[in-house]
Amino acid sequence: MTKITEGVYFIPGQDELIPDSHAYVVGKPSSQDLSLIDVGLIGKGSHKIQSILKMGIELAAVKRIIMTHTHFDHIGCLSEIQKQIPWAELWIHALEADPLEQGDERTVYGMDMFRGMCQMQYGLRSGAFHFKVNRKLRGGESLELGGMVWEVIHIPGHSIGSIGLYHQPKRILIPGDVVYADYAIGRFDLHGANASELKKSLMRLAEREVDILLPGHHQTVEKLPPGYILKTARQWEPYLV
Ligand SMILES: [Zn+2]
Ligand SMILES: [Zn+2]
Repeated sequence: MTKITEGVYFIPGQDELIPDSHAYVVGKPSSQDLSLIDVGLIGKGSHKIQSILKMGIELAAVKRIIMTHTHFDHIGCLSEIQKQIPWAELWIHALEADPLEQGDERTVYGMDMFRGMCQMQYGLRSGAFHFKVNRKLRGGESLELGGMVWEVIHIPGHSIGSIGLYHQPKRILIPGDVVYADYAIGRFDLHGANASELKKSLMRLAEREVDILLPGHHQTVEKLPPGYILKTARQWEPYLV
């Protein structure tokens, strides 16, 4: 785990055959009110917990888990993490929280073929991803997280309840899988995905000034060129109809 800036820490994913999403810890350590953003692939819970401990953070300070969205590569190790920090609340956008509470795993696996493959590979039964969500986000909230304010932006398209977290004072964006480095964007062919919604979401993100981009996979960027997200959206526009 590395420190991006005061109050923002990065735990790189450890990709296997299936990718393991990055995770981030946000909040000023002195606040003892930290949030873990995404957890990662099944089997990667101890990697994430060990990374937090190595930074000298006490697990007791981690008060909640906020999911950018609930795909398998982001939520896969949630039950492993919950065993280590059972007190942590779970915050997810309502459009993915409701299915998760009902045991509807279509968003988690994205497509039937992938569900079969994951269940076989990891010995998962149907209904393994059934969680109680403590706070259902809608987008537009200003979250006070460990002495920092983060805006929740609903950015559907990659998945129906994807959110971005934006910290205006330092121009930091955590966009989940909606936009990556190198002018890449998230896929838009899985359950609940929608290409034209994705275009609108990219345009919504392009309204924010972003210097630090902390996506769910691949490189993080600390000096994003001005207009980067708009340029990315424009490049992809012909495909996002
Ligand atoms: Zn995803
Ligand atoms: Zn992902």
